[in-house]
Amino acid sequence: MENYDIVVVGAGPSAAFLAYEVIQLDKTKKVLLIEQGKKVEERYCPIEKLGKCTKCKPMCNITCGFSGAGAFSDGKLSLYNKEDDDIYIGGVLHEYVGVEETKKLIDYADQIYLKFGADTKLEGVSYKEEIKKIYDKAKKEDINLVNIPIRHLGTEKSHELYGKIEKYLIDNGVKILFETTVSDLVIENNEIKGVKIRPAKYAEEEEYNNDETIIGKKVVLAVGRKGANWLVKMCDKHNIKTTAGTVDIGVRYELPDKIMENINKYMYEGKFIARPYPFRDKVRTFCQNPSGFVSTEVYDNNITLVNGHSYKERKSNNTNLAILVSHNFEYPFDRPIEYGRNVAKNLNALGNGNIVVQRLGDIYRGKRTWDEELKRNSVVPTLKSAVAGDITFALGYRTMTDILKFISALDKVIEGFANPDNLLYGPEIKFYSNKIAISNEFETSVKNLYSIGDGGGLTRGLMMASASGIQTARNLIER
Ligand SMILES: Cc1cc2nc3c(=O)[nH]c(=O)nc-3n(C[C@H](O)[C@H](O)[C@H](O)COP(=O)(O)OP(=O)(O)OC[C@H]3O[C@@H](n4cnc5c(N)ncnc54)[C@H](O)[C@@H]3O)c2cc1C
Repeated sequence: MENYDIVVVGAGPSAAFLAYEVIQLDKTKKVLLIEQGKKVEERYCPIEKLGKCTKCKPMCNITCGFSGAGAFSDGKLSLYNKEDDDIYIGGVLHEYVGVEETKKLIDYADQIYLKFGADTKLEGVSYKEEIKKIYDKAKKEDINLVNIPIRHLGTEKSHELYGKIEKYLIDNGVKILFETTVSDLVIENNEIKGVKIRPAKYAEEEEYNNDETIIGKKVVLAVGRKGANWLVKMCDKHNIKTTAGTVDIGVRYELPDKIMENINKYMYEGKFIARPYPFRDKVRTFCQNPSGFVSTEVYDNNITLVNGHSYKERKSNNTNLAILVSHNFEYPFDRPIEYGRNVAKNLNALGNGNIVVQRLGDIYRGKRTWDEELKRNSVVPTLKSAVAGDITFALGYRTMTDILKFISALDKVIEGFANPDNLLYGPEIKFYSNKIAISNEFETSVKNLYSIGDGGGLTRGLMMASASGIQTARNLIER
């Protein structure tokens, strides 16, 4: 049985930055990352060539492998405004380490991204007056506009950059086991002792009984949204404390660049947040991709979700962005992941396993969208595998009402935002697990077991996930 000082489950940005920081602090520490996906250089999504999702086995290449969901992400690194006394984007890390410390962590992580080749240009820092005008207009519609500087890597550059980080870690003694799934945790007397592993191709096989054990003094769960479902099972099985979590459910919205021209130019990404009546749920835009492409990702080998990205070089004529509604559940049902999965399953069934696309105008007219109509539509879908249909059959009344009200309100800020030819793709769902209860050092209720990144609900984005990894390394080395 192999023995490590630090074992990390997953090799996404949170894990990679943890390992990077351990190298800076103490090279003698034996660190192991266990990742069910492939090396970053071997990750490839067939949809580019084939025009449809082939549901890669054993794991989706978009979400799994070195750098996790970061490899094919648009690579928008959200920074912060110096004058802000809060952190508005990327999760709740600041609730554990404080706002000032979080800003320092972001600065430090940003320097690492720059060191490995990130673009030095920042978006959203010029055009102050123009942004203020949009902000004021939005305020009149009860919409808040959060504008923070963004460093945009671009999908192809993200891949390259994370490739360099992967090489750096391996060259500096970090061991990474690829295509290996952590199937279980080894916990004795409420203290972590290690993990059980198996080849990723047997991840879902209940009959499989050749699991190996890896001993770790400290184990860090850095499983991302991809591992959220697995995390729920582990929490249930081992009584790891959780608090009620959130699931974000919504659509990917695609419209002409022309309509989004000013937002794209002044901010690259407009982060609009509102709480429309009657439900007052939090509705927000997220992950905006100017001249981008709508994409898919597969979860647990059977759920197809929509997403979006943009390249530095390759361009479309459309902007896409997520419109997400945050849903929380309490007694007697507190299983946000299960709820989200059911919505996704229903919508996937309506699209015969594919993403469903519908014109906004058709929703207002109370009808589905047909293929022929899509071919004549002025907004040409960039996701070729999407199937024309009716997303309102599967998204609940509450979610749908929130989204439509939000679109109408934003139309008064961005002229053309509610044009009937604009497209809604579904389902776009962000799973965050039930939030894992952690200490200020990210330790769970099980001794020496930590939870970081997106999976346990601490972060919601590349920069904050990376920052959570850096902070964890410091916590672990100091202890
Ligand atoms: C298409 C797309 C575009 C995005 N664009 C942006 C963007 O522009 N800006 C932004 O800030 N964020 C973006 N995101 C989100 C961002 O990628 C995530 O916030 C970030 O990657 C989270 O990092 P993480 O380390 O917490 O988890 P992840 O990156 O999800 O990594 C977790 C890793 O753990 C592995 N894993 C899970 N369970 C197990 C197990 N049991 N055994 C072994 N391995 C396991 C997974 O395979 C995965 O590789 C995007 C995401 C996607 C999918």
